[in-house]
Amino acid sequence: MQNHKELFYSNLVEYYSKNKEARKPWTHEEMKKISNEIIEAKLTVGSKTNRQYHLLSLYDIIDIKEKLMIIKKRLADDKNAVYITPYEDLFEVLYPIHISAGHGGRDKMMFALKTKHYIPRIVIETFIQSCAICHKKKNFRPVNLVNKSITSKEFSSRGQVGLIDYQSMQDGQYKWLLNYQEDLTKFICLRPLKSKTPAEVAKELLKIFLELGPPSILQNDNDREFVDGIIMELVKLWPDLKHIHEQPLDPQIQVSIEKSNQDVDNMLRAWMTENNSTN
Ligand SMILES: [Zn+2]
Repeated sequence: MQNHKELFYSNLVEYYSKNKEARKPWTHEEMKKISNEIIEAKLTVGSKTNRQYHLLSLYDIIDIKEKLMIIKKRLADDKNAVYITPYEDLFEVLYPIHISAGHGGRDKMMFALKTKHYIPRIVIETFIQSCAICHKKKNFRPVNLVNKSITSKEFSSRGQVGLIDYQSMQDGQYKWLLNYQEDLTKFICLRPLKSKTPAEVAKELLKIFLELGPPSILQNDNDREFVDGIIMELVKLWPDLKHIHEQPLDPQIQVSIEKSNQDVDNMLRAWMTENNSTN
């Protein structure tokens, strides 16, 4: 969150230095001055200056707990007040709204803010661009399950196996994540592994097969030897599994497990960032 705040303000500074014509939200200091101007304009009897007319047509002042706040001009006094948010408070206002909207995008945030705070669109966009979690989510695109032709007609006739490398941030003894995907339903099973030896992979796969049923064809797109090794180990554990065999992937119609590995990895990393976890 601290990094998010720093990045957000440094991006804002950069934006307003490049776009001089864009009106930067007022600071607390500027708001004090403007409040006084608005009060003076309201008290002026007779002809007002253009500046005073302008201010009064857009803003009003309300007194909240003995603090003067600038709000958007309301059609009637009983309409709810939309506060003009000072520059220094932008992050504190935006952050809880963004989080409670599940890292909501610009439109979702603007909708949530609409009746309470006025914050320029560009500020909201900058806020979202500065969010590390939103960045990761943006790179995550789920596999399109519908348009990919299904190569299996029966459940559990074919499955793909893949490993995701977490050696750089292992959790205790666990350094790898086994990803097994059933081809017909694209249902995936994930299991933590201490090593990538065929014996350990086979032991975990066996547990999955006991639940889902073993496939006839086991695949991995770029390592056929890896799959052969696993099958040999599987047969040691369950001799009746002789019918399982390896088959190369047909890149024309099959989505590689690599894509699914990547999605799982992106989701896990996003979760870790969100929860400040390092393993
Ligand atoms: Zn976010």
